[in-house]
Amino acid sequence: MAPASRLLLLLPTTTYRTEAFVEAAHKLGVELVCASERPSTFEELAPDSLITLDFADPEASAETVAGFARRLPIDAVVPVDDQTTVVAAAISRRLGLKANALSAVSAARDKHAMRRCLSEAGVPVPRFRLVRLSGDPAATARQVEYPCVLKPLALSASRGVIRADRPGEFVTAFRRIAAILESVEAPMPDEARRALLVEDFVPGSEVALEGLLIGGTLHVLALFDKPDPLDGPFFEETIYVTPSRLPEAAQTRIAAVTRDACSALGLTEGPIHAELRVNELGPFVLEIAARSIGGLCSRTLTFGTGRSLEELILCHALGRPLQSLERERRAAGVMMIPIPRAGRLAAVHGADEAAAVDHVDEVAITMHPGQEVIPLPEGWQYLGFIFARAATPDAVEEALRRAHARLRFDIE
Ligand code: ADP
Ligand code: CA
Repeated sequence: MAPASRLLLLLPTTTYRTEAFVEAAHKLGVELVCASERPSTFEELAPDSLITLDFADPEASAETVAGFARRLPIDAVVPVDDQTTVVAAAISRRLGLKANALSAVSAARDKHAMRRCLSEAGVPVPRFRLVRLSGDPAATARQVEYPCVLKPLALSASRGVIRADRPGEFVTAFRRIAAILESVEAPMPDEARRALLVEDFVPGSEVALEGLLIGGTLHVLALFDKPDPLDGPFFEETIYVTPSRLPEAAQTRIAAVTRDACSALGLTEGPIHAELRVNELGPFVLEIAARSIGGLCSRTLTFGTGRSLEELILCHALGRPLQSLERERRAAGVMMIPIPRAGRLAAVHGADEAAAVDHVDEVAITMHPGQEVIPLPEGWQYLGFIFARAATPDAVEEALRRAHARLRFDIE
């Protein structure tokens, strides 16, 4: 019998994605090696399945994994979150595995590099400029046009993304982002700690496109509407519902623009998560990340005869047949439960009542009583997730709202 495939998962300590990927690997009979940035106390006991890597240093990580792979060959490398996409590309290159080019994922990981690359290629993006944190924000505030959006170059989950409508708000937002960047522990390129991006605020509705690139061809797995208005000043993600209710023609243009964006960046293999704003001028790309959807949101997606998104991603990475990329017929959605205010979470009420709402599949409260909760723009976590499935997107959205209304969070 041929030996099982061995796959390296790159798991940042703060990820929500571990369980879904580990479960997919088990289902597929894949042997897993897990890498994280903190030495695990179990590493000595399980030297064949745990590795410690410095995700901030892609080349050193590639070297460590190459050493490991001389003993136990690795067939594929999968980054589960933004923080590990660049390391994954460096390791794949070192091991000679088919994967995205390092330059492509590096551009996708840096919002300024991404904007430059896309605008040069003629892909519609908001007008942007790089602003140094060492400069005088009041001077810059007089030069930019309003409304604008200020954002860090390499964070995610809308952390530190702030709209400003006038110079005073610009200066406040600038200082707030500078403070966030000082407190971030996660690995981040130095440049991303020294500057931020200022963009035109693009009005309109927002969508998220979940896709899989195979040999340079983009397959759209799902298009999600975000029905809550995202007008700022902070951009809390809440409801995602698929299939999209936008007209067919608009959906086709969104897919075409996303495809152009992937080719401009040079992304060719694996999952992408794209976010776009759509208005009367057409779709604008807000971002393309070389990873799958975050949080627990992938639980909304089922393909073919019951495969998860993570199973598709692992099969693709291993070069196994994919069978169907067709999402199930029913509409599905998730609500990421935002944190209403800062404090200590004392208690959560109504989870059973919320789960009992028609069409609701699951209510997953991911924060624990006693935990410190931090809202946007400083925070990056959610109180939990609500999942629903129904015949139509409208019914899914309504179920999510009704379930959320039954939840109560005591925050002290
Ligand atoms: P992150 O990578 O942290 O998610 P994004 O650049 O995707 O940062 O921004 C987060 C959210 O902020 C977007 O989903 C969108 O709602 C809003 N946003 C960001 N940039 C703009 C913009 N230029 N115009 C309008 N809204 C924006
Ligand atoms: Ca985003």
